[in-house]
Amino acid sequence: MAAAMRSRCPGSGALFEGMKAFRGADDKIRLFRPELNMQRMERSAQRVCLPAFDGAELLECIRALVRLEQEWVPPGPRASLYIRPTFIGTEPSLGVAPPGQALLFVILCPVGPYFPGGHFSPVGLLADPSHTRAWPGGAGHCKLGGNYGPTIALQRAAQARGCQQVLWLHGPERLLTEVGTMNLFVFWHREDGELELVTPPLDGLILPGVTRQSLLELAREWGEFGVREGPLPMGTVLAALAQGRLREMFGSGTACVVCPVGGILYEEKWYPVPTMEHGPELAQRFLRVLSDIQYGHVPSEWAQPL
Ligand SMILES: *Cc1c(COP(=O)(O)O)cnc(C)c1O
Repeated sequence: MAAAMRSRCPGSGALFEGMKAFRGADDKIRLFRPELNMQRMERSAQRVCLPAFDGAELLECIRALVRLEQEWVPPGPRASLYIRPTFIGTEPSLGVAPPGQALLFVILCPVGPYFPGGHFSPVGLLADPSHTRAWPGGAGHCKLGGNYGPTIALQRAAQARGCQQVLWLHGPERLLTEVGTMNLFVFWHREDGELELVTPPLDGLILPGVTRQSLLELAREWGEFGVREGPLPMGTVLAALAQGRLREMFGSGTACVVCPVGGILYEEKWYPVPTMEHGPELAQRFLRVLSDIQYGHVPSEWAQPL
């Protein structure tokens, strides 16, 4: 692989996926909705003209690999095996053109619980409107290597300011789009008092997360509060905060399932977000329900034994 990396064409694509294998109390190993990762990976490859591949076939290879390496899947209750399918162009030439050679490989790595002890620790977010992660017509909806390298400097700046993550804004309305490499959810009372869960729409600016889709499907199935995919302008969110209508804000992704937000640093001002003060009841419920499925405590089509 080192040789392949050395001969990578600088103009050709690189993309990846992130998924997990979970070992249940019954000792069975399960994958969580892996076909969605495969479909997303196929779309990413199409976006950068890497060769088309059969996602179902790759999934069979991944199953075989995890079976072979099953002793690396840690015992629960909250640990897992992280799976990182990767696809890079390896054409040994300088041109910016579809690569004539490519390498698809899968990296495995056992990971411990995201929240040790199972206790949430909320993150502070740096919201700096002078940076943007993605733009209309761009490729922010694909898991391309090129979308992540440029975010690291701002992530470091956030840490230097005492924040853990970047809140990615976009456009004159300063739309809230994503939290670091997580999708964003807000749970609030609308101005008319109705409870509502809102997440930004799949308009090309955000990555279509498997976790995001799963939380939306769960919430719609429960039918206990409004569920909407719609824009979240900073002004609207700050007004809801000021009026005490915002209950929970959290990120969602494979690594953590959900990650509560404790405050936003925006235009030199710190805005506390009362997620933890509200339990966070909804974030905890999402974590519990998804974990129960992933570790096989509750039967579901979403969790597929190897
Ligand atoms: C991977 C990723 C997510 C989360 O996607 P999941 O499929 O839920 O893990 C969200 N945003 C960005 C930018 C990502 O790269």
